[in-house]
Amino acid sequence: MFFPSEPFRIKVVEPIRRTTREEREHLIRESGNNVFNLPAEAIYVDLLTDSGTSAMSDNQWAGMMLGDESYAGSKNYYHFEDTVHDIFGFKHIIPTHQGRVAENLLFSTILKEGMVIPNNIHFDTTRANVEYNGGEALDLVIDEAYDPHLDHPFKGNMDLQKLQATIEEYGVERIPLVIMTITNNSGGGQPVSMENIRATRALLNRYGIPLFFDACRFAENCYFIKEREPGYQGKSIKEIAREMFAYGDGCTMSAKKDGLVNIGGFIGLNDDGLSEKITTRLILIEGFPTYGGLAGRDLEAIARGLQEVLNEDYLHFRISQVRHLGKMLDDEGIPILKPVGGHAVYLNAREFLPHIPQAQFPAQALTVALYREAGIRAVEIGSLMFGHKDPLTGREVYPELELVRLAIPRRVYTTMHMVYVAESIINLYRQRNDIRGLKLTYEAPVLRHFTARLETVETSLENA
Ligand SMILES: *Cc1c(COP(=O)(O)O)cnc(C)c1O
Repeated sequence: MFFPSEPFRIKVVEPIRRTTREEREHLIRESGNNVFNLPAEAIYVDLLTDSGTSAMSDNQWAGMMLGDESYAGSKNYYHFEDTVHDIFGFKHIIPTHQGRVAENLLFSTILKEGMVIPNNIHFDTTRANVEYNGGEALDLVIDEAYDPHLDHPFKGNMDLQKLQATIEEYGVERIPLVIMTITNNSGGGQPVSMENIRATRALLNRYGIPLFFDACRFAENCYFIKEREPGYQGKSIKEIAREMFAYGDGCTMSAKKDGLVNIGGFIGLNDDGLSEKITTRLILIEGFPTYGGLAGRDLEAIARGLQEVLNEDYLHFRISQVRHLGKMLDDEGIPILKPVGGHAVYLNAREFLPHIPQAQFPAQALTVALYREAGIRAVEIGSLMFGHKDPLTGREVYPELELVRLAIPRRVYTTMHMVYVAESIINLYRQRNDIRGLKLTYEAPVLRHFTARLETVETSLENA
């Protein structure tokens, strides 16, 4: 495959600094071996997240200068509403300042104690908002999603048998809606096929259960459908998006991903009564319905970003850039999760560092080494993030996979930056036997990975 060169040129530059190894050694020690505690200025290539880290276009920045900051009825709101309506098709569009507020408004309105929300896999904020509002969050993705070596074009698909069994088990009255996360972030940015969306819709129609989308990376999902699903090669991304959303009753969206902006989100939905209830809550916690916690200029930037993200040259470059990074690593035998998804490459830390037991946080050890050796910030998705003590037995429970996610911000880094990342990881792989495990010295009672402090396991005695 010929790698597409950047479909943009650079008009404004933001200098980034190459620190020395001594500096990084000092900083990572100070941070308690936790990359969340590092100053961003001391990072050369920052792959912590693709959320809110996109570069805006000249067209979006020009739109920011046309912000109408009227309290009510800003012209930017109408542009935003028209654009979202045109792509997503939902009747009511409710702006929020980011995705999790959209989730909070939706779930605090519809959930009652004892209800369940099925999803392919819940993203962490979605799960938290479901559970906080008294619901149970169920992950019903196909089993293939859990095999890191298996190549499958739509690893984000819902398992329809599991979904039907869940509906039969809990009953329709306990399932206010079903969600499909496109692409499936927690499962590696894997897409959902149109066929699976259509079949899910058909199944839910038999029970009268609404279908919602967690639409953060909808354009990337549409690109995969166009590339991989028979019958979609001749359709535009917008046509694919319109068909997809027509199967749904609503969506939550973080515009910090495929909105190509640094802040923003929205809820789209068709139900008048539900929209009215959510709008009442919106006014209480976010703002008036024509700005919802955002400035007029932010709404303008989202409207323009949503049009730009449908551009196929952009999407082709975007998906190829991520895939190309995966290929450079795979060609050198570096263990990665396959196939490469839309927004990130995931290193398989258990295979990268087989000498470090899960109790010593191999994915965190790899994340720390990557910063120390190369100034690259990735994020651990393994036993530091998900490990916990079983409340009954008191024993540590470890997650299935130990991953290091390299999330690629949109339109920010060049292909040469990706070559630098690949070469750094390949170098690190050659010295992998020198990487040692870690142990916790501080952990918070919840979401410990954000603030944890760790130290290197020094002696071979401790390794035993
Ligand atoms: C980022 C994300 C969210 C939450 O959005 P925020 O804007 O970060 O609040 C929800 N779902 C998915 C799939 C996401 O990737």
